[in-house]
Amino acid sequence: MKADIHMHTVFSEDSETPVETMVEESIARGMDIICFTDHQDYGLKPGYFQVDPDAYREKMIQVRDAFKDRIRVLIGIEIGMHMDYRDEIKSFLQKYPFDFVLGSVHLVDGVDPYDRALYPGTDDEMYRRYFEQTLECVRHIDGFQALGHLDYVVRYGYDQTAYTYQKYADVIDEILRELVSRGIALEVNTGGYKKGLGYPNPHPDIIRRFRELGGEMITLGADAHVPSYIGYEFDRAETVIKEAGYKEITIFMNKKPVFLEL
Ligand SMILES: [Zn+2]
Ligand SMILES: [Zn+2]
Repeated sequence: MKADIHMHTVFSEDSETPVETMVEESIARGMDIICFTDHQDYGLKPGYFQVDPDAYREKMIQVRDAFKDRIRVLIGIEIGMHMDYRDEIKSFLQKYPFDFVLGSVHLVDGVDPYDRALYPGTDDEMYRRYFEQTLECVRHIDGFQALGHLDYVVRYGYDQTAYTYQKYADVIDEILRELVSRGIALEVNTGGYKKGLGYPNPHPDIIRRFRELGGEMITLGADAHVPSYIGYEFDRAETVIKEAGYKEITIFMNKKPVFLEL
């Protein structure tokens, strides 16, 4: 079974791809299961990166049903986690049912690292602050089943080669322990390959460490915003996941884990 459970459509601020186009291309690429995870972010300018939840749900159900004989379409959301918006996140997630909630951190000290020059600190400071804020979110925000692209911030550093897991092992290990104790999965996001890092996010050292600390659930997603990135570099990522000791990846249906053999 092939599954890509992190992808975006026109419902996300940064994608223009119709939902049907993503489904058709997923079928063409041999996917058996996909999950849409359009952006619902907090802490950006008002209304920015916010989904229209009713329109989203209606469209996703319609597409899911229309394609049900060809592919299993799951309906998820990628929540941009932010400590100042805990109440908003909680009420959003209580109001709308999803198969899968992917919790991601997209900001560092309120700054989008995508625009690197806006963050005043060094790469080292920016990475450390990102991990510290991720730890806070993982500790205090409920309702998500997987942590998205841990170490994603490295994609935007000035010098990506200086990054190692070991430099931040103190705080990263705390994040991983928190995930394990709360039964939350770690996402392996192949966007890292796309950005030229040579590895997925997070780094393979972190995937191995998660396993050592007792982490049982890994999700896999390409974070495609256009059809050509669906399932991107999954063979490489699956090798990394297997080398870390995993025999299965996890998907979520109605927020319940389902294990797929690798
Ligand atoms: Zn993301
Ligand atoms: Zn995403």
